[in-house]
Amino acid sequence: MSLVNTPVRILDLTPVQLKEFLKFLGEPVTAADRILKYIYREYVAGFDDMTDLSPTLREKLAQSAIMGVLELVEELAAVDGQTRKVLFRLADNNTVESALMFFRNSSTGRERRTVCVSSQVGCAVGCQFCATGQQGFVRNLSVGEIIQQILFFQRRFGPEMAEPKKGEKRIWVMNVVFMGMGEPLANYDNVRQAISILNSPKGMGLGFHQVTLSTAGLVTQIRQISEEKLQFQLAVSLHAANDALRNRLVPINKQYPLAQLISACKEYIGKTGRNIFIEYALFEGVNDSMQDADALIHLLSGLQCSINLILGNPVPASDFQPSSRETALAFQKKLIDSGTRTMLRVSRGADIDAGCGQLRSRRLESR
Ligand code: SF4
Repeated sequence: MSLVNTPVRILDLTPVQLKEFLKFLGEPVTAADRILKYIYREYVAGFDDMTDLSPTLREKLAQSAIMGVLELVEELAAVDGQTRKVLFRLADNNTVESALMFFRNSSTGRERRTVCVSSQVGCAVGCQFCATGQQGFVRNLSVGEIIQQILFFQRRFGPEMAEPKKGEKRIWVMNVVFMGMGEPLANYDNVRQAISILNSPKGMGLGFHQVTLSTAGLVTQIRQISEEKLQFQLAVSLHAANDALRNRLVPINKQYPLAQLISACKEYIGKTGRNIFIEYALFEGVNDSMQDADALIHLLSGLQCSINLILGNPVPASDFQPSSRETALAFQKKLIDSGTRTMLRVSRGADIDAGCGQLRSRRLESR
């Protein structure tokens, strides 16, 4: 018989909370480490596969808890083989997207595997160039729904990994970026808990450089995270260097104008000692002129940051087209000449609706 009215979602729990739950079940807390090892190192999807646990504990877990597995609706692979996009159905029939991207270091030849996760179904920020922003907000994802997106790829590809050497972690996903659907800082309680599980040596054991959270600029929450000890990198999606344009592109700017945002970024850098990434998607004739570059240099002067210029995917039913490569290179050169570390990134998987929310949009439209 179940000991709880509503099954506990095991992937929502931190290692400490899992111990408390075991205590509540009347089981030894020492089993927590084995359960976490099964989930995050052995990639099992159900309690039945945790054969090392006592039959009594497995039975109690089956009656009182759920693992929760996302249902795969659609999976697309880009022709270059470097990007995969998946659409998942959640228990309440809503859908979210995740992406897997492979990068290869040109000098070492080492492969990096990055999973881009969603934090919300839809998004309330409403950025004009974003398919998710055009869908509106539906709900926040739970901690477990965020974690499951990463575990999907771990389970899919992890078993192909060679046995790790002594002391090495058996973790297939190497980087996690919160750049999928939703504004992660608008669901910060759940995102914070998910990151703490990703950070935990008993969870995935990912460190500071392996987790990146990208925000449209929620100033109150940026100030809050300045005080916290979580291990992740912060990226701010700027996309415009003056308030009039940013009000149009990223409407949250009306609530948190640029002066407040830059001041919060400085506070974050001062308190954490960390660099910030500035994301700037280049759109033809919108924000890609040399005057825009000058305004950006002026705005960011004195801010310890690196800029990622992004050549995005065209958004169906919108006026936003990515800038040409020549324009992007000229924009990048101007920033580099001013002494700002600037990378130019090209959006992955244009052939598979890889822009944020595009796959879900297509599904919603075809319905
Ligand atoms: S770009 Fe990000 S913050 Fe803006 S609407 Fe899309 S998902 Fe939301």
